[in-house]
Parts: sequence; C-alpha cells; structure tokens
Amino acid sequence: MTNSENTDQDQPQPKPQSLPWYRKLHWQIIFGLVLGIAYGLLAAAQGWQQFTDDWISPFGSIFFNALQLIAVPLVLGSLVTGVASLSDLKKLSRIGGKTLAIYIGTTAVAVTIGLLIVNVLQPGKSLPESTRTQLQEQFANDVSARELQAGEVEDRGPLQILVDIVPNNFFSSASSNRNMLQVVFVSLVVGIGLLQLPTKQAQPLLDLFDSLTALVIRLVDLIMLMAPIGVFALIARTITGLAADDFGQIIDLLAALGFYCIAVILGLVTHMMVTYLGLLKLLTPMKLSVFFKGMAPVQLVAFSTSSSGATLPLTMERCEEKLGVSEEVSSFVLPLGATINMDGTALYQAVAAVFIAQAMGMDIGLTGQLTIVLTAVLASIGTAAVPGAGIIMLVIILQSIGVPTAGVALILGVDRILDMMRTVTNVTGDASVATVVAATEGQLGEPNLSEVGDRIRTHL
Ligand code: ASP
Repeated sequence: MTNSENTDQDQPQPKPQSLPWYRKLHWQIIFGLVLGIAYGLLAAAQGWQQFTDDWISPFGSIFFNALQLIAVPLVLGSLVTGVASLSDLKKLSRIGGKTLAIYIGTTAVAVTIGLLIVNVLQPGKSLPESTRTQLQEQFANDVSARELQAGEVEDRGPLQILVDIVPNNFFSSASSNRNMLQVVFVSLVVGIGLLQLPTKQAQPLLDLFDSLTALVIRLVDLIMLMAPIGVFALIARTITGLAADDFGQIIDLLAALGFYCIAVILGLVTHMMVTYLGLLKLLTPMKLSVFFKGMAPVQLVAFSTSSSGATLPLTMERCEEKLGVSEEVSSFVLPLGATINMDGTALYQAVAAVFIAQAMGMDIGLTGQLTIVLTAVLASIGTAAVPGAGIIMLVIILQSIGVPTAGVALILGVDRILDMMRTVTNVTGDASVATVVAATEGQLGEPNLSEVGDRIRTHL
C-alpha cells in the first residue's frame, strides 16, 4: 500500500468526513441481510422461486464473482511485495512457523470444544427414530454425491498435499481460486527471488506488484459499494433455495435438528469468545471492541457468501487498513488461513460426527473421539474455502471412526445454515491470528476505524 500512501502525500486529500450511521458499511450490509431474509421468507411462502432465480440471484452471483475476481491478484501482489520488503529471510520462517503453530493449535482447541459440547448435550440421543429414517431416505441421493467427492480426496497419497502446492504452470493456478495455496507458494518464491536480485533489476517488478496491490485494495472498496445488494440477493437465494418447493420442510428440519444446531452454534460462539478473544487480550494491545468493529463487515460478508475464499480480499483490506496489521504479515497469514485454517469447520465436523454416531446408537469411545481430534484438524486443512466443502470432508471423518457415511443425510438439510456460521468463525480466526502474529512481530500499527470506502462514499 506504499503507492496509496505516496498518493496521499502528493495530492491534497479532502478531509475525511464522518458518515451518518445509515451510510456506514456494516449497517448497510445489515439492512441488506435483514431485507434479504424478509424477502426470502416471503418469496418462499408465495412460490416466487423462479422470479428470485431469474431477477434477484444474479446480483448475488455478481457480488460473489467480483470478490473472487480480485483474490488472486491481491494475494500475488501483496505477498510478493511483502516478502521482497523483508530485511532477512529468517523473519519469514519465524512468521511462517508461528502462524502454522497457532493455526493448528487453535484448530485443535476448536475440535476439543466441539467434542465437549456434543458429549455433554448429547443432541443425537434425542433424535426420534422415525425422523432418522425419514431423513436418511430423503437425502440418500445427496449423500452419494458427497461420498463420491470424498472418495476422490481419499485416493490421494499422504504427500500429495505437498505435490499439489507446487504448480507446473502458474497461469493454470491463477485461473482458479481453488488453487490459492499454489498462488501463495509462487508468490513466496517470486518474492524471495526478487530479494536476491540487484535493486536495479528487481525494482521495476516490485513497482508493478506494489501498484497492483494498491489498485486491488481500491477495487475492494468499489466492490463493497454493492455489498448491501449482493448480500440481499445471496440471502434471498439461500432462503428460497432451502425452502425449495416446500416451505414447511425447513421449519420441520430446524425443529428436528434444533438441538444439534444449538450445539454447533454454542461451540462456535464459545470458540470465538474464549479462544480468539483470549489470544487477542493476552498477546495484543488491541481493544476487543475495535477488533469487532473492524471485522463486522467481514463477518457479515462471510455469513452471506459462506466462503472464506470469496471473503479473503475484504479480510485483508480490513485487517490492514482498519486493524493496523502490516501488509507483510497480512499478505502471508490471511491467504494461508483462508486455505488451511478452518476452526469453525473443524468444530462443526467434530459435533456432526458425534451427533451422527449418537443418533445411530453407536458408542465411538475415547479412541473414536481422539481420532476425531486428529482427522478433523487434518480434514479442515484440506477443506476448500467454498460453500458446503466442510460436509465432504465429514464423510472421511465418519469413515475413520467406523460410522456409516449414510448418516450424513441426517444433517444435510440444515448444513447451509451452519455453513454460514462456521464461515464467520473461520474468517474471525484468520483475522485474530493475523493480529496476534503482527503484534508479536512488532508489526501492528494504530487501528483506524474510519469507514471503508470513505474516500469513495463521501464523493458519491
Ligand atoms: N464454507 C466454509 C468456508 O469457506 C468451508 C466449510 O466449512 O464448508 O470457510
């Protein structure tokens, strides 16, 4: 973001004006969210699915695509500049080691919290036999599709994950957001390579990447102008999609699986309040209110898109510009986190696995629970940062503890709702760790909570 700073110094900037509350980004997104829920319920009740698909959903897809569009250039630009500005490479390995250790540690804590809650509440034991049979019949086909996808993941050898990180063609990696780890790898290597070059040769490329980063950050502001409409459309589509042609069905499902949903949500909230806030309180000088104000739009977008990958550009922008995390730290910690750190997903997988075992009358014992800790941590690392990916990896966890994978049918109906919530936890985790790493590296600046897009919004 050096360029934008230069521009700030070169040109006289208008004084930042304070916006009325209803023009603040998070309030506008909340309006979109609430209106989207209201419209979605009405549309589901009135049978307006087709109209919603034709005339409302496309705006959600446009918003979702626009966010995804800038993820690769943002990671590439900011990570290359971040690495190339390092004074020595020891720092990079220290930041890398610390980040991985906190990511894996917090995920293990998340799984443990999930296991504690599901073992105490035992939501699976209260699921009536008749509901279980009905759900299994209703979702049998959907389960087969998930099993097929899980099979593809399973067939890969133990070191395949390392092989997958190194692409044989960068342009093919950059052409899909699913290859974010490859983009991270290439950016690291390019950054390290630039460090080795004489300044005269490195500078033109560095300037290019620096410019690219500054441009993409501004594009985030522009895209966020359509966030309220995008969020409205995404939520409306989710609700009409869930209700499909039978509106009463989702209500029945929620009633039957309410206790299970409560266990997952309780776990997610506990993890956010205890683990993340504890880390922030202990290891950073940041006020928790500042953290939440800075992160509110990120959490709302994560909730609406159910994708930590699509939310990544906004997570990076808010962490850098609002929380004061340095570009060097955020450009490394956040893309890595969006790809491998999914605490919400791991917690949910643990609760879901035990819930299914309980509902099927199986006792998985202590060995089973310990297996869940290990497999859920690994499975969440392998989960793609897209909607619904967590349930595919759940199939593998169930296989590892000997629970029939057909049990996934029990929870499929409410998965989308829980996906929205676990994605919020996933992005909050990434941002907390970025803040912690920045603070412990002496790279956490002053937070600045003036509204995102001010520069643009105040000129509209
Ligand atoms: N939707 C989640 C995410 O993108 C992944 C999952 O749990 O399905 O973070």
